[in-house]
Amino acid sequence: MQEENVTQEPGVPEIPGVPEVPETSEAQSEEQEESTAPAHDRELSCQNCGAPLSYMEGENVITCPYCGTTTMLAGYDNIVKIDGHSMLPMHVNENDAISTLITWLSKGFFRSKSYVSTAKVASVKGLMLPYWIVKSSASTSWHGKKKRTKTTGTGDKKRTQTWWEPVSGRFSEDFTWPEYARENPEEFWGIGNIQPGKKSVFPDWGKFWLKFGGSKQSSNRNMLDGQIPFDIEAVKSAGMADDLVNGQITQERAEANARGNIKEHQAKKAESKADVLSDVDTTVNVNKVDLVYVPMWEMKYSMDGKEYSALVDGAKKEVLSAEYPVGKKAKITIFDTVLGIPAIIAGVVGFGANGPAGAKIAMFILVALMLAYSLKKGLGSRN
Ligand SMILES: [Zn+2]
Repeated sequence: MQEENVTQEPGVPEIPGVPEVPETSEAQSEEQEESTAPAHDRELSCQNCGAPLSYMEGENVITCPYCGTTTMLAGYDNIVKIDGHSMLPMHVNENDAISTLITWLSKGFFRSKSYVSTAKVASVKGLMLPYWIVKSSASTSWHGKKKRTKTTGTGDKKRTQTWWEPVSGRFSEDFTWPEYARENPEEFWGIGNIQPGKKSVFPDWGKFWLKFGGSKQSSNRNMLDGQIPFDIEAVKSAGMADDLVNGQITQERAEANARGNIKEHQAKKAESKADVLSDVDTTVNVNKVDLVYVPMWEMKYSMDGKEYSALVDGAKKEVLSAEYPVGKKAKITIFDTVLGIPAIIAGVVGFGANGPAGAKIAMFILVALMLAYSLKKGLGSRN
């Protein structure tokens, strides 16, 4: 015993949780060689049923595919069973997911009903994705200035005054804020877009240059609506047990990320309330943090040879995020509106008493352009 103590190197106390560092340079180079090899599965046994759990390096929120118990590796040798572990039920099957997308693509001003018949679904992938749902309320107070103008007098004495009025206010909002429990939000398309205020609908205008509207931001939806306790049997019977994805981000980090994102979201909202904002202060109160498995369908489809992605809710028949091509009807309408307004003005001026001939000519040119564009688009390609 004593001898062992003597041989231990001084100044290197054993720290629990820190793996031993190889001492010789030979061992180090070996280590490096090993780390360049592809990441291999690791194993752990389930705290509840004892089944072997295999996982990849970096994953630390692991759901047992046999009994559904979720364990969190909170550092070396520190395994925590997660209690607030739930899921949203899978009410949408693969065919429902496809029809939800097709219906969505045929509705609305910017999308095209006739064009949708050319849509080809290339792939549909069912996913059970882990999110930390941070149930919280945020209260924001802000101070700023608003520009005011006032016109006094008439004729030559007409004067416009401009001044800055101090304004301030307070608003609050409740959230069930979703934080994806994995490091890379790009691994499946669109999964980061479900956070409130994030752009979730992306129009493809092609070469059309009057890009007005057509995009959308995610609303502050209740992510715990329909929440049920995690049920591995339900996941198995929906054929999604193989699509269960383990988490990589711990509860603590998810909560910190959510606080930061909520503050950013509130600050953006405050910006619209004043012309110049001098300060914004948001307090976030977290009530609860739940690990929730959310069913989703990641879809790839093509229209006219161009590829697009979409994400369909697996709990409700709803498109959560999508890319889509803007239909030709929307383009014609926008084009004609943009040219139509100056055409009307030119017409009113040109055909009024003593109207200049130039205005009449301008009106005819604009109307001719509108007709030409509408005809070309109408007779030409589907989009
Ligand atoms: Zn188990």
